[in-house]
Amino acid sequence: MYLVRLIYVSKFSPGIGTDDINDILRASRANNPEMKITGMLCYAPGVFLQCLEGPREAVNKLYRAIAADDRHQNATVLEYADVDDRTFGKWSMAYIRAEDLGELPELVPSANEKFDPFAMTAGEAFEFVSAIAKKREDLLESSMKDMEAQSR
Ligand code: FAD
Repeated sequence: MYLVRLIYVSKFSPGIGTDDINDILRASRANNPEMKITGMLCYAPGVFLQCLEGPREAVNKLYRAIAADDRHQNATVLEYADVDDRTFGKWSMAYIRAEDLGELPELVPSANEKFDPFAMTAGEAFEFVSAIAKKREDLLESSMKDMEAQSR
């Protein structure tokens, strides 16, 4: 089995809001474990950045479905790589709001202060997602708890 990581960015479709994001996270958490997919979904006003990791076929299949989803547009792959280990092994789909990343410029020195993942190189995209995974586990976990509380 080849383990791969795919990082892409996209723009919200007009009219997308919190309910849509909650639906996406619910579907992710329901579907991803069976596909052995883990990852992270980061969103800023107007923009998604998602990291998907898992078996190559599963990641490709899911990405094709996601890219065709009309809740977002202009899905653009920033990084696709064979990997030895998962960065988000604990999370079927962690989520984080860019506005909660007060340290964003420090996490990725080359990142714009205005969160613009379309401007990231592949290396910066991975640096960004791994910095979140390593430094902000507490934030991701509290986000998960908020999310679970909201969906009860
Ligand atoms: P369903 O149970 O069919 O749908 C879940 C909810 O989403 C329902 O409320 C449904 O009405 C609504 N919905 C589904 N498709 C659409 C649509 N095209 N437009 C409007 N509402 C819709 N899916 C995953 O399984 N894993 C992921 O990691 C993942 N990440 C995503 C990231 C982004 C940025 C986006 C936009 C979508 C993502 N999705 C993900 C959703 C994916 O595109 C499919 O909608 C989903 O996989 C369908 O799964 P399902 O049939 O179990 O969901």
